[in-house]
Order: sequence, then structure tokens, then C-alpha cells
Amino acid sequence: MDILFENAKVITMDEAAPYLENAYVAVKGGKIVYIGEAAPQEQAKRRIDARGKLLMPGLINGHTHVPMTLFRGLSDDCELDVWLREHIWPAEDKLTSESVRAGTELSIAEMLASGTTSFSDSYFFVEDIAEVVQTSGIKANLSRSIIGNGEDFENMPSVSEMRELFSRFHMAEGGRIRVDASIHAEYTTETKCRMKVAEFAKENNLILQIHTSESKSEHENCITRYRKTPTELFLSEGLFDGVRPLLAHCCYITEHDMDIIKAHGGSVASCVISNLKLASGIPDLPLMLENGVNVSLGTDSVASNNNTDMFEEIKLVATLYKGISLNPTAMDALTALCLATVNGARAQGRDDCGILKEGYDADIIMLDFDRPHLVPCHNAISNTVYSAHGSDVVLTMVRGEILYENGEFKTIDIERAKRGVMA
Ligand SMILES: [Zn+2]
Repeated sequence: MDILFENAKVITMDEAAPYLENAYVAVKGGKIVYIGEAAPQEQAKRRIDARGKLLMPGLINGHTHVPMTLFRGLSDDCELDVWLREHIWPAEDKLTSESVRAGTELSIAEMLASGTTSFSDSYFFVEDIAEVVQTSGIKANLSRSIIGNGEDFENMPSVSEMRELFSRFHMAEGGRIRVDASIHAEYTTETKCRMKVAEFAKENNLILQIHTSESKSEHENCITRYRKTPTELFLSEGLFDGVRPLLAHCCYITEHDMDIIKAHGGSVASCVISNLKLASGIPDLPLMLENGVNVSLGTDSVASNNNTDMFEEIKLVATLYKGISLNPTAMDALTALCLATVNGARAQGRDDCGILKEGYDADIIMLDFDRPHLVPCHNAISNTVYSAHGSDVVLTMVRGEILYENGEFKTIDIERAKRGVMA
């Protein structure tokens, strides 16, 4: 075997045994080949003493736009419209291939250093993003976000980029990189354009990402125009026929919308911090879960978050719903963790990660549980959800490759990335 972690606390997220107190985890050929409390017989090339540490599945960021790391702190505390029109869109007009690469590299570094091993993205400059993902070693579902209002679909540069991304990168690196289709949103596309993107998704069996019912005005304007919610409209246009949707935000979806998402094997990527900061609203995650919807968590971009620390999202969802419902059982710690791991993998259409289990990809993170705010440890799941920070991560592994360890990035020149975003 390649690597053996010894004497670790392990959150597996495997229903059969979600937590092991003093366990061994062995990794070989990118896969987990053993988990158990007895020491394995086979010798390992490298043994890692994980006493005082916690191992868990890498976190899955279900919705982000990685190059927007360039816009961290560029504009806060203003109306969505002002934020977009006066700050974000003018900044996006100035993006170049070089700046997108630097922003992507820094964003991936930030994710690896805070325990994220896979993310779902939609943006432009997608080949630059994909090439950086390829060399970084992280997993990603990448998509070219399509905006279209009546142009000839086949002649849109964004559509050629979508097709090019698909042919160059779908299932690249043994499936570490997957390509999704992406409709930006209802209010930025017209029906024919949406149907064409969905057709492309169906033809190629791709997940279809769409920003959906993020703000109240977006949701209500759609109802005024079509007498349908955005989700109902998408259904009536046939976008979900044979296509699994991944709908981001969903602050205003109805129970009928939830039934539609569930019936099509779809998922929601909720981005609660971004929704709070932009004053968009609060998605009803407990109601979605009650209705059988696969709910995952995302950070959204750093322009509206302003970091990609998934531990912040996990703690927030585990506390927020208690507060607004005055019900301390509204979202328990294990469920919150499930959204960022098991459900995230399902939302990405990946059946080989999100759980630490023999035969699964070795997407593993290690947290230093010896730090003052993590002692004592009466309950490791509680400490992980309510006490830990992304900065407690000391090792991040994707498919058996250590990409980050004790402050050091193995595949990213972090100083170059930092210089690049400040250029
Ligand atoms: Zn978004």
C-alpha cells in the first residue's frame, strides 16, 4: 500500500459505521483499500501518525465560480443590482486569460488548504480554468455558463467554448474532471437557448447547472411573465427530460418545485452565506430534505462570500435553521456534514467519493484535533461541525495524492498565484 494513516479518529460518513475512534486507513492506487480498528498486515510506503488528528471525507463545494477570487472584498454591503452593474460586471470585462488562471490557482489553493477536494463551477474562460484544475490535482465538475437572448445559438462564441470544453475535458484524468452543462439563469436566457443547452446535456448525459430562484424579484418576475416558477418553467420547456439538474440557490422554490427536482433525480446547491450577504433570502433546506431533495452546500464565489471555507457553511446551516424555526432539531450536526460530503458527491454525479469506505477514491482530509478549540472531544462530529475551522486542515488528499500538507502546496506555486491576483 502507498500510505497508511495510523491511530486516527475517523468520520467515515458510511451509514454502517459513521465514526471510528482509533483506526487505520490504508490507501493504494488512489483508492481506500482498508479502514478498520485492527492494524493491517501489509507494509506501507509511508506511514502517517494520525494520533490527535481526525480523518474525514474531503468536502465538496457544490457551487462556485473560482476565478472570482480576484474580486475578494471588491464590493460589499450594497444592493445586488449596484454590486453587479457597478462593480462585478465592469471588473469581469477586464478579465484576461492570465488573471483567470491566477484567480483559479489561488482559489484551488484556498479550497485545498481548507479541506475541499471537489467543486462544481460555472463561468467563462473555461479552458484556462480546466487546465489549472488539471495540474492542481483537485476534482471538479466544470461548465461554460451560457447566457443567450435571441442570438443564433450555434454561432455564439460561448456555445463553441461549451463544446470545446466538453470534447477536451469531459472525464479527463480518469474522470477527476467532469464537464457539466450550464444555463446561467432564467432571466439571462430565452426559451430556445435554454432548450438547446438542455439538449446538449441530454445528448452527452451531463448534469445541468442553473442559478434558480436566487432572489425574490427573479422568482416573482418569472411568475408574472409565465404564471410559473422558474423550476416549473424549466419543466414545461422540457429541460429536465433525461437530464439531472443541479439548481443553485433555490431561496424561493415551492414544495411543487421540490417535487419536480426530486422526480428528475436533481439536486440543490445551496449557498447560504452568499444568500445572506447579498440579502437574497434563506433557502428552506429542512423542508427540501423533508421532501426528499438531494441538498448540497456551496460557497458561491468569493465576490459574495468572501472565502471558500466550507466549514463556515456547515456550521451556519447547523445553527441557522434552529434559530429561525425555534426548533433545535431542525438540522442536526451529522445532517449538515452529510450535505457537504455524501450529498455533494451525488449532486456531482460521482459515486466514488463523499464517504471513506473501502473501494472509494481516497479523497481524505486530516484535521489537527489537538488545537485548543477542539479539546476535549466528547463527540468528533460535534467538534467538526460546531468547533472546527477550515484552517484546522493539515492534510488534503485527492485520489491518493497529497496535494496539501502542513501549509505546503504540492502542485501549486502559491507565491506565484498570490502575485498573479494582485497584478
Ligand atoms: Zn453562482
